[in-house]
Amino acid sequence: MAVEIRIVSIEAIILDLPTIRPHTLSMVTMNRQSMTVVRVLCSDGIEGLGEGTTIGGLAYGPESPEGIKLTIDAYITPLLLGHDATRVQAAMDLVRKAVKGNHFSKCAVESALLDCQARRLGVPVSELLGGRRRESLPVAWTLASGNTAKDIDEAQAMLGQRRHKDFKLKIGAKSIEEDIGHVAAIRKALPDMASIRVDVNMAWREREARNAISALADAGCVLVEQPVSGIGPLARLTQTSSIAIMADEVLVGPETALEAVTAHAADVFSIKIEQAGGLFAAAKVIAIAETAGISVYGGTMLEGPIGTMAAAQLMAGVKDLQWGTEFFGPLLLTEEILEEPLLFEDFELKLPQGPGLGIRLNEDAISRFRRDGKQPSGLRVVG
Ligand SMILES: [Mg+2]
Repeated sequence: MAVEIRIVSIEAIILDLPTIRPHTLSMVTMNRQSMTVVRVLCSDGIEGLGEGTTIGGLAYGPESPEGIKLTIDAYITPLLLGHDATRVQAAMDLVRKAVKGNHFSKCAVESALLDCQARRLGVPVSELLGGRRRESLPVAWTLASGNTAKDIDEAQAMLGQRRHKDFKLKIGAKSIEEDIGHVAAIRKALPDMASIRVDVNMAWREREARNAISALADAGCVLVEQPVSGIGPLARLTQTSSIAIMADEVLVGPETALEAVTAHAADVFSIKIEQAGGLFAAAKVIAIAETAGISVYGGTMLEGPIGTMAAAQLMAGVKDLQWGTEFFGPLLLTEEILEEPLLFEDFELKLPQGPGLGIRLNEDAISRFRRDGKQPSGLRVVG
């Protein structure tokens, strides 16, 4: 059969965007967010969007905004130009064969190809991933100002606006005593409807984690995310913890998910489309977790609105979303890069009904924040 619709261009653009406040994690404090936006244009005039974003340059993981762009420009784009745009999985098979690792770049390109194909078919991306089970997703907020009083004010403001009621506290940079005091003070200051979880980002050793988790449980915390590194230590902590343990950093695709369920390394898996290597890979991680009776949670790499919406289209199809998501990345940015901002209300992110990812870029914002200062070239057709 003749192939008629081809991929004609792939552009990777780094944007630097200011954040509403410093975001303090155990390994880095972020004062801005950089994202690599991917635009794929097809021969039928349809354009799709993807996003490669990481946390704190190279502080969180092995991929940086610059590395994501380089991988796409130098290795992925030459492979895909001229490829059948309607065969997303076949295109990504080509990429996986020629490019090892680099999950974030692959995710950004795959998201853009799926956006194109879903627009072409006139359906949301969720419909290419098995269909929706819900039209909105609960969204937790991360308190990471680095200051207890500021975090309490921020949480109370979020509750007042009915924007978030589940709060994740980033701990692990200070002493355990200080961290426990911080968590207990915030728990005490907030009403019962609020839930408190913590993310340690692997900062603890197993022995100190065991004692700290028990103190966190006493302080009213309901979940501890990735307290230590490695599947073995995580599994031992999960066996003895009275509150839920979530795996995040150890999950870098379906193979590691299989190892983690075999070891019963966690009660909950944080599903990150970029860390997994794309939407299809993340769907496999979800399937592995569900089959093993492990809960799934929508995690974030602090993506802007494009990556957040790609993840939301996937999580809309998850059967049991008891722990919700943390898809607040766009709300951490001071600037809007979409024509219509994502809608957060009543503690949830609403999914758009439009085709593809259901979002459109604001071209002026892209011109203003792109690192290379270039102006967009030529006429764009958005399907
Ligand atoms: Mg995490």
